[in-house]
Amino acid sequence: MRSIELEPSPSIPLHALEALQQDSLLPICKACGTQYPRTFALTQDCKICADPRQFVPSSGQEWTNLIELGTERRHVILQDEVDERISMISCEPGFAINQTPTLIETANGSYIWDCAALISLPLIGHLSKLKTPLKGIAISHPHFFSTSLTWSRALKVPLYLCEDDQEWYQRSGDIGKDDAVVWWKGEQELGPGVKVIQCGGHFPGSSILYWDRLSEPPPPKDRLPTKPTPVSGIIFTADTIMVQPTQRGFSFIWSVPNLIPLRPRAVLAVQERLRYLPFSEATSSWPNRWIRQDAKDALESSVTTFLAAEGWRMEEGTLVELIT
Ligand SMILES: [Zn+2]
Ligand SMILES: [Zn+2]
Repeated sequence: MRSIELEPSPSIPLHALEALQQDSLLPICKACGTQYPRTFALTQDCKICADPRQFVPSSGQEWTNLIELGTERRHVILQDEVDERISMISCEPGFAINQTPTLIETANGSYIWDCAALISLPLIGHLSKLKTPLKGIAISHPHFFSTSLTWSRALKVPLYLCEDDQEWYQRSGDIGKDDAVVWWKGEQELGPGVKVIQCGGHFPGSSILYWDRLSEPPPPKDRLPTKPTPVSGIIFTADTIMVQPTQRGFSFIWSVPNLIPLRPRAVLAVQERLRYLPFSEATSSWPNRWIRQDAKDALESSVTTFLAAEGWRMEEGTLVELIT
């Protein structure tokens, strides 16, 4: 991936400055990056970390805020060199779970998939000058809700959240009539060729983002790219199905830090949700997790491997216990 340094002091729209100012001192959990409302009592543990899918660090619950994060950290854009329309928004040094939200720049609009706690003026400056305007932010699941309401307000774009995870959204009470929060379920189109699909498993609302790159218009003849532009479907999978470090297969995990796998039936339900989708590439929430070809075949074989590791196999559409 190619690192892009951001302009340090870009001009920023007033509404973005106001949104940052308004939320600048709200508590953010240092372990997972979730932002809480002003009314949250800081003597409590973070609700996301107290859940068995995450953890409260042995050193105890600690809090920070956007002001502190902004003085200690900065954003770097990591642009994919195979498809320059895809970039990851990296925070340096890393923070909390340290996922990298993905920026997808399609011909009809740009989208951010997932969120992380830091939002900075250089990043807002970068996102306000994209070739196609930013049209929305969609979040895969509660571990990455982070400061997404602040992002949506500062960038003035809709925020897409799966309704089945609403109980985990810590700032639900702060959502006002001027906020563009879209609670969706099942499938939700974000724009031409781009949609989010609820798969469940890791959380009931865990989802993936699908981009049908074949639906993109061809580049104008006088601006042909110097190398071929990928046209295969691509899925952005977050924790819903994790691209393994091998970058050849997927893992199906209920709790990532506590190493608890997904139940076999939940794995099959995820596989079923994606069965109709044409795709050959997949990427998770980190720059070094990318399956560049045959991702759909990798999903099928990974399901078989994973079920076998848990003591099951499929026989004529039915789960059968392996005799070991
Ligand atoms: Zn937390
Ligand atoms: Zn997660």
